[in-house]
Amino acid sequence: MTKQQKRNSTTATKTSSSIIKVIPQKRAKVSEDSIQCWAHSQTGKRCEAKIHSREGEPIPIPYCDRHLKCGDGALKVVNHPFFGKALVARYDLPAKYRMAYWGIRGKCASCSVEDRAISYYPPNPVTGSNIDPTIEGGRTLKRHNYNGVLNPGNTGDIIQYAACPGPNEKQNMRSTFQYFGLRNGIMGGLEFVTLQPVPKNTQLLHWYGSGWWEERGIKRQDVGTKRYPAPLRESKQK
Ligand SMILES: [Zn+2]
Repeated sequence: MTKQQKRNSTTATKTSSSIIKVIPQKRAKVSEDSIQCWAHSQTGKRCEAKIHSREGEPIPIPYCDRHLKCGDGALKVVNHPFFGKALVARYDLPAKYRMAYWGIRGKCASCSVEDRAISYYPPNPVTGSNIDPTIEGGRTLKRHNYNGVLNPGNTGDIIQYAACPGPNEKQNMRSTFQYFGLRNGIMGGLEFVTLQPVPKNTQLLHWYGSGWWEERGIKRQDVGTKRYPAPLRESKQK
C-alpha cells in the first residue's frame, strides 16, 4: 500500500463508520492520579485529557478546560420551537452515560427567579462522597450541609438545557447526588447519568421536582417534537 492509498483508506474508514460505540464512563473517584475527561468529541471519541484538582477539591468536575468551555460533544444544544433551548444526544448514547452539570457557587437570589441554579451540597472533603455513614440507611442524601447554589449562567455548562418531561413523558437521565467541588469553593458540579439508551436526536430530560412548575405558575407540557422526540411513559407508548 502506498502512502497515498493508506491515507485514502483511513479517510474512508472514518467517514463510513456511522456506528459509534460509546462506552459509559466510570464514576470519578478520589485518587492520586488524574481522571480522564468524561467528554466525547462530536464524532464519538473519548477525550484523552487528564484532569487534576483545580482548587483543592477531592474530585474535580470531570471535564478538561476545553470541555468545560464547549461542553460534551456527545450532546447538542438545539432550539426548541416553544421552550427556548433543549439538550439532545448528538449520536446514540448508552445507558449509564455520565454527564456533569456545573456552575459557579454562590448565593441564590431567588430560586424562582433563577431557573437553572441548583442547590449545592459539597461532598466529604476527603472521600469526595456525599454518602454520610453516620446517618441511618447509609446512602444518605446529605441535606444538612447546604452551601449555596451552583449557577451555570455565563459558563460553558450545557446540562442546564436539559428539560423536564411533560405529563406523557418520562425522564431518561437523573442526578446521582454525587457532587464535585469544595465547600465554599469557586466552582461545583453534580453528576447526572442516563437511565436508558438515548437514541440520536432524542432529548435528555430529568425531573425538576413538582414544586418547580407551581412556583412559576406554568402548566406542565410535553416537550417532545418530531425532530427531537422525548421518551414516553410506558402507558403512552404505542
Ligand atoms: Zn476533555
